Amino acid sequence: MSLLDRHRAVVPDWLALYYREPVEIVRGEGRHVWDAEGRRYLDFFGGILTTMTAHALPEVTKAVGEQAGRIIHSSTLYLNRPMVELAERIAALSGIPDARVFFTTSGTEANDTALLLATAYRRTNQVLAMRNSYHGRSFSTVSITGNHAWSPTSLSPLQTLYVHGGVRTRGPYAQLSDDRFVQACVADLEDLLGHTREVAALIAEPVQGVGGFTSPPDGLYAAFREVLNRHGILWISDEVQTGWGRTGDHFWGWQAHDAAGPPDLLTFAKGIGNGMSVGGVVGSAAVMNCLDANSISTFGGSPITMAAGLANLGFLLENDLQGNARRVGGLLIERLRAAAAKVPAVREVRGRGLMIGVELVRPGTDEADHQAASAVLEAAREAGLLIGKGGGHNTSVLRIAPPLTLTVAEAEEGAVLFERALRSL
Ligand code: PMP
Repeated sequence: MSLLDRHRAVVPDWLALYYREPVEIVRGEGRHVWDAEGRRYLDFFGGILTTMTAHALPEVTKAVGEQAGRIIHSSTLYLNRPMVELAERIAALSGIPDARVFFTTSGTEANDTALLLATAYRRTNQVLAMRNSYHGRSFSTVSITGNHAWSPTSLSPLQTLYVHGGVRTRGPYAQLSDDRFVQACVADLEDLLGHTREVAALIAEPVQGVGGFTSPPDGLYAAFREVLNRHGILWISDEVQTGWGRTGDHFWGWQAHDAAGPPDLLTFAKGIGNGMSVGGVVGSAAVMNCLDANSISTFGGSPITMAAGLANLGFLLENDLQGNARRVGGLLIERLRAAAAKVPAVREVRGRGLMIGVELVRPGTDEADHQAASAVLEAAREAGLLIGKGGGHNTSVLRIAPPLTLTVAEAEEGAVLFERALRSL
């Protein structure tokens, strides 16, 4: 029996695999990975943005190896130096005054924890989320995911109300200027709050990830914040995809909305562990300390994942990878725009830093084309390039998010492969 047949026989159907002939990745180095047959791919998806710096980054490998040789895990019931050190660094970087950090093992669990905190702090289970959002797949996070393709049940422990603003590519406000769009979304939020009971929090991705790498106009959340503050509603910024400088101009996505100041709670995961399972929540002491009974995580903050996080974050900061994301990402966006200009199926190439989306439509229409996106995904893989897919319920957006050490030469190599894949349409 092939590995694929064995996979299908043993995991649930909803654990999706990419590609008609799914690929088995067995090794990685830098920005490249190899499959079980020895084929090399340029990795423009980084394991869904989990490889933040590079595959097999020597600094991370060494730190993990040394920590494994000392102790992999004991318990969060004991003092843990790597955890305290990483928490100190993240607290200082978060921009949140008097910050506390709690580590989890995933982004889902980080958002789950943020919801636990916000609902306990505000004593209500009513929350606001953005349309077209993705926040995870646990019982609580599916109910703040405003994208039904990724929200596999409608049963919910929360009462969620969905707000306009995260995506504007289509819908009633699509044609508005940035200012008018922000005004319309704020008016809609005010109207919504006029019809509801107490709300705990608004959770939002500064750039929607699974939703297709769409950014609202800068300042949208600053404008929302003013309304939220009047109602005592917390702002949770889900930085699982946008954190750590990926968007180039900013270290956190929330900083594009700067007048809003830091969020009350910020959630992170994916890249910080460079593939090790690290997630977490950072927030002000007032909110973070609001639980009145013990609430621990067995594995959150385990020394081995914290060692990876420390080495990875250190490398990121010392080598100004945010600056690299801005420079190389800017070049890549320009290069992809030039490649796409000749392809009628491309509606838009958009992005910030190394978070780039290419949206496909049926030529001559505004109709999202998920079949074309699947075809390009396949063709890119055949050309030796791994990319991702996302965007609304019909996944018509190709997602490009390489490790942040991407070089100019690799960006060029990827653009050539991507152009070849687009031309296969
Ligand atoms: N939030 C965002 C913005 C995400 O993109 C994801 C994962 N795609 C999650 C939360 C959930 O993270 P995880 O898969 O680590 O649970």
